[in-house]
Amino acid sequence: MYFKLCVLAGSSKGNSIFLRIDEDRFLIDAGISNRRIEKQLKELKEPNLSEFTGILITHEHTDHIQGLKTIVKKYQPKCWLTFDTYQKVRPKTGPIDTEFIEVAEAFIIGEVHFLPFEIPHDAVDPVAYVITKGKLRIGVILDCGQTSTYLLDGFRDLDVLIIEANHSFDQLLGSSYSYALKNRILSSSGHLSNWHTADFILATKPKLVIITHISENNNTPEIALSEIEERIDFDSKSYKPYFVIVPSKGRGAIISHSEMDE
Ligand SMILES: [Zn+2]
Ligand SMILES: [Zn+2]
Repeated sequence: MYFKLCVLAGSSKGNSIFLRIDEDRFLIDAGISNRRIEKQLKELKEPNLSEFTGILITHEHTDHIQGLKTIVKKYQPKCWLTFDTYQKVRPKTGPIDTEFIEVAEAFIIGEVHFLPFEIPHDAVDPVAYVITKGKLRIGVILDCGQTSTYLLDGFRDLDVLIIEANHSFDQLLGSSYSYALKNRILSSSGHLSNWHTADFILATKPKLVIITHISENNNTPEIALSEIEERIDFDSKSYKPYFVIVPSKGRGAIISHSEMDE
């Protein structure tokens, strides 16, 4: 099985993930411009979006859909999202060729299985995904206020976990953000801190972890990695995942099947 994955962008300014499993190609979120996506797909030596199997949308926040209007106009792709999310997205994009999904109801696109999970975040119906084909298991949790045993149970034994590590708790508390904004980010419908993310990684033990959606104001890739590794080391000497950190500008590393075997 051939497998290729790249976080094209991962920050509060824009998020989009490219995933290819054999000949099925997917975009998860389209929170950067179509032009940027086109450029990156060229760099990845992949065809344009008209040859994609589908686009999946996790939730309606601008940093996850702002490229979608142009993409829909140019390529008319089929998009998978919940009914409530579509109601929020449609006024910004116009009509989309849509397949509605529901949390906890698995579906298949091409030859790839998707299981959407309900997650707490201040959007109308946000989802996380476990994506599988054969033995390959990939999990995607972007914006998420808190994890739960429901998520832990579903996300065990992953080959790859893509997860946000939004903020360093100490940095956010000491930041110049308003009290209300700090509360929103820290709340159960806000974002995961480095420590939350570390706890989730430790509980689910994925082989490879891709850290994304790192705040530009209250975190850095270096701090995120050191806080996560410190916390994991503190609790476990035997588990050592491989980490890929997505920079706040530019794309993450390209992960392919041969690298997964290492
Ligand atoms: Zn976001
Ligand atoms: Zn969001």
